[in-house]
Amino acid sequence: MSVEDWDRSGLRAADTCVSCNKPFAPGATFAAAIVIREDRFVREDRCTACAATVPADAVSHWTARRPADAKGPRRLDFDSLLELFVRMDGRTDEPSLRLRWIVGLLLMRRRLLSIVGRRVEDGREILALKPRGDEKAHEVADPGLDDDAAEALRDDLSRIFDLDRRTA
Ligand SMILES: [Zn+2]
Repeated sequence: MSVEDWDRSGLRAADTCVSCNKPFAPGATFAAAIVIREDRFVREDRCTACAATVPADAVSHWTARRPADAKGPRRLDFDSLLELFVRMDGRTDEPSLRLRWIVGLLLMRRRLLSIVGRRVEDGREILALKPRGDEKAHEVADPGLDDDAAEALRDDLSRIFDLDRRTA
């Protein structure tokens, strides 16, 4: 899935809380979490009443807001993606490193991250990426994805952001 495809894709987060199944109201604040289930990334959204039940082993979690206007095509939520990128800092498991690299490139294209450093270590490119308006840079290493790994990651991202697989 290219960055361009992502831009065209809608972000269709779940319409109900994964814990209590209550539907989210337009404009409502909710707790979004990325968890690993059976070695794959899954996104879980919870209403504020259920936010305390976000699993302790979540890869990342952040507070987000439903669009006030449900009409029209939904866009990828770049604030949430940036939050995901920053909160994955320090995770060293391979799935997280891969996800972080892809999300980092996507945010770089959108100019929400800028490159402040670049080096090669053991044949791997390592970029230092700094969020706009932030002091701290985050280092991410190119995971050198092969075709199978890239495909698995595209599946994960499609499910996390509930993208139409035809556009992925
Ligand atoms: Zn709930």
